[in-house]
Amino acid sequence: MTSEVVIKADKLTKRFGDFIATNEITFEVYAGEIFGFLGANGAGKTTVMKMLCGLLKPSSGKATIAGYDIYKQTESIKKNIGYMSQKFSLYEDLTVIENIKFFGGIYGLTDKQLKEKSDELIETLRLKSEAKKLVASLPLGWKQKLAFSVAILHEPKIVFLDEPTGGVDPITRRQFWDLIYSAADRGITIFVTTHYMDEAEYCNRISIMVDGEIKALDTPTNLKQQYSATSLDEVFYELARGAKRKSD
Ligand code: ATP
Repeated sequence: MTSEVVIKADKLTKRFGDFIATNEITFEVYAGEIFGFLGANGAGKTTVMKMLCGLLKPSSGKATIAGYDIYKQTESIKKNIGYMSQKFSLYEDLTVIENIKFFGGIYGLTDKQLKEKSDELIETLRLKSEAKKLVASLPLGWKQKLAFSVAILHEPKIVFLDEPTGGVDPITRRQFWDLIYSAADRGITIFVTTHYMDEAEYCNRISIMVDGEIKALDTPTNLKQQYSATSLDEVFYELARGAKRKSD
């Protein structure tokens, strides 16, 4: 992690009619940092993430991603980020290798780069015997690891992960996080939303959103100290229990 700021949000606000979905969100994320973005359902995480990726115009406030302005430089932002969510990632009806080629093509890799990257990926993920199988046939944990690797094929500055490990057990989540650490070691910044507190513990810093506002932002250790809590679960509960927006 370095002191270079790669995500800078300054009073980002989004209103839908009279409803304030996110209220003056302000934070910075550093290059190579693993930044956890937590909040109960409806807190406003996805709305913030969409604004940062240049997919949703804020009502007010400013933000830069890798130095690019979210209002005026959305095309440059898209070239410098990767994105993965539980809901959108790979094509189930394409094989492993076809998915790698497809996304590599979209990200503008040359044939040579694509060949190198796909060989390397198949090797790292130990997917050699699965390379020609349909993604639909892979266990969920493997799909997620592959989806993450594909999202960073083009070595973006920042990768946005929206609940990337939903539905898998803690051991598979741990393996997924090994991939995250190795990407962060290479300087890729990780911005991740999660509901799992074991994952929150793996982050360098986490922010906790409640009803459209950031209520806490610090390292997991400092937050536990600050709230005299033994676990992040307790910190989260303490902050989120007063939430007015309820989960569906
Ligand atoms: P989850 O974990 O359930 O995805 P979240 O923290 O990502 O929740 P958001 O999806 O950002 O929450 O939603 C924040 C609030 O804004 C919610 O109350 C939601 O209903 C509202 N909201 C989001 N998009 C719109 C929209 N297009 N129009 C009106 N309200 C919206």
